[in-house]
Amino acid sequence: MSKKDDCIFCKIANHEIESDYLYEDDLVCAFRDLNPQAPVHVLVVPKDHYDNIVDDVPGEVLAAMTHAVSEVARICGIKDSGFRVIANTGAAAGQTVMHLHMHVLGGSTLSEGLIPNA
Ligand code: AMP
Repeated sequence: MSKKDDCIFCKIANHEIESDYLYEDDLVCAFRDLNPQAPVHVLVVPKDHYDNIVDDVPGEVLAAMTHAVSEVARICGIKDSGFRVIANTGAAAGQTVMHLHMHVLGGSTLSEGLIPNA
């Protein structure tokens, strides 16, 4: 398993630091964002460290993340009402934690401007 010592999401994904988890499997986990931008704001992260979505991420990890997004939407009751999935990629795009993550935002009518760190 590839981890980065100073990475907060590596620590959360591998339970070295506990969080408010909603979903977990062998490859990924999902937990509530510390600073929610919508009634539902959950982060889906791989347990292995990748800097972002273009960091040679294996297809099975991307598939597991997509499955986790679906599970989060089901668990949070937003699967049918619509939600937004965002992966900020690079500092210029607003990525502040350099461990691949997908934001799942929903639970209200989302304005066009509701993009984390935009
Ligand atoms: P981004 O700006 O796309 O890199 O998003 C990083 C997100 O991680 C932000 O929405 C933060 O609120 C969130 N965040 C940072 N630290 C934590 C933490 N310890 N637990 C949960 N969410 C966090």
